[in-house]
Amino acid sequence: MRRLLLVLLAIVALLPADAGAAKKIQVVTTIPDLADMTRKVAGDLADVSSIATGVEDIHAVPMKPKFAVLLNRADVVILMGLEAEHAFLPALLDASRNPKIRRDAPGYIDASVYVPVLEVPTRLDRSLGDQHPMGNPHINLDPVRGKSMVRAIADGLARNFPEHASTFQKNAAAYTKELDAAIARWQQEAAPLKGKKLVSYHPDLIYFVERFGLEAFGTIEMRPGIDPTPSHVADLIERMRQAKVEIVVRERHYPAGLAETVAKATGAKLVELPAMVGGVPEADNYIAFIDYNIRTLVKAATGG
Ligand SMILES: [Zn+2]
Repeated sequence: MRRLLLVLLAIVALLPADAGAAKKIQVVTTIPDLADMTRKVAGDLADVSSIATGVEDIHAVPMKPKFAVLLNRADVVILMGLEAEHAFLPALLDASRNPKIRRDAPGYIDASVYVPVLEVPTRLDRSLGDQHPMGNPHINLDPVRGKSMVRAIADGLARNFPEHASTFQKNAAAYTKELDAAIARWQQEAAPLKGKKLVSYHPDLIYFVERFGLEAFGTIEMRPGIDPTPSHVADLIERMRQAKVEIVVRERHYPAGLAETVAKATGAKLVELPAMVGGVPEADNYIAFIDYNIRTLVKAATGG
């Protein structure tokens, strides 16, 4: 008996690592926002893991061998799209050698497909910087676009697993209802932000700003991914003083010093915000993430 048990244990050890979980859909997302949305849509049908933890710069997530292994075993990969992940995803997909999730395969689920995109370049020019070649990809900061991302995830999963399509759609509808209630509440809570001018380090708040009635006055970066020059910073400070800009946002993955300098020189309030779920411990799911950003900005704008 004991011998049989040992033999069985040895056989299990020889099986591929994912054999026990073979019944669940293996999902890899690029960022935690997408992982949270996917868990809401797929429920118990999927095992979901995220490459980024949320504290990284989405344009520069460090690549690790374990991500290629994860992608090798994935049934689908879910990404923000619009080239947001260009610094790491294409190389990891190559390394994963998984035909199911190649860019032209059904398992490649782009969450941006139903989202209206802002800041689409009218001409291609290398001097314009290279982080936003398809337009601004930071769609996760706007919860209304978040609903479109949920729809893209549900449709993408249904395309790959039609047998579960009705479950995905039902779950997506329930989560969308939850988001609609939160959006109505956020519109009220964000009322003190209406008309406030804001400077951020990188242009990742434009969708948020548009949704909640603020004004994106400028960025500390010259252009997406292009570090500021001293003359750019001096000019920005001068223009901010004239326009009485009240808020400087440092997204938490950007350096603190320059944002502090700009805030001090202009008398603006310095606010530190996460750009993804997981960027601060309190923002541990998508609704909590938007909650955190609104609460933190309202507190700064109302002198808290
Ligand atoms: Zn960006």
